[in-house]
Amino acid sequence: MTSKIIRPLTGRIQVHGLRGPRGNEPTNKSMFKDAAGAAIRPTWVSASDGRPGREGYWVIARKHLTEVAESIAIRDGSVEVEMHYSPTEKCDLRCQKAEGDDCTCACEGKHHGKAQHASWVEVGETTLIRGEGRKVVNRILRRDQAKLDRDARLQVMVREVVNRQRGPHEQTNA
Ligand SMILES: [Zn+2]
Repeated sequence: MTSKIIRPLTGRIQVHGLRGPRGNEPTNKSMFKDAAGAAIRPTWVSASDGRPGREGYWVIARKHLTEVAESIAIRDGSVEVEMHYSPTEKCDLRCQKAEGDDCTCACEGKHHGKAQHASWVEVGETTLIRGEGRKVVNRILRRDQAKLDRDARLQVMVREVVNRQRGPHEQTNA
């Protein structure tokens, strides 16, 4: 079974159907912390009374969506990501100039910043839930793509740190 991340319009992301660790793999909680930083606080929500335990799920701060999705895809081969958007939220400069990856506007993230989720393959139909004014887009992230994205992101981070350290030094040598 492929696990599924749900990113609602607001609030934390949910990770459903994630398998337990095998062999000497770290616990799921450690996997999230390794990917997104020790400061994150993944919380396990148990299945409601009388429901099977596998209906429990993790909740994690929404800004960690990318790292969490990548870590699951790299361990398990792929992960599904169900992302909710507001069809009435206009796509404007706030979205297009954004640095992060948290877009819920009508563009479905296509115009968002550096289009972080552009590499996540859309699957199935986009569903419009009229009563709630919500649009649901399903994407899948596979291991190879997750590795490429993660490496690219780490390289950018390293370059930024190096540039920051180099900046004043180069000026004094100029
Ligand atoms: Zn937008």
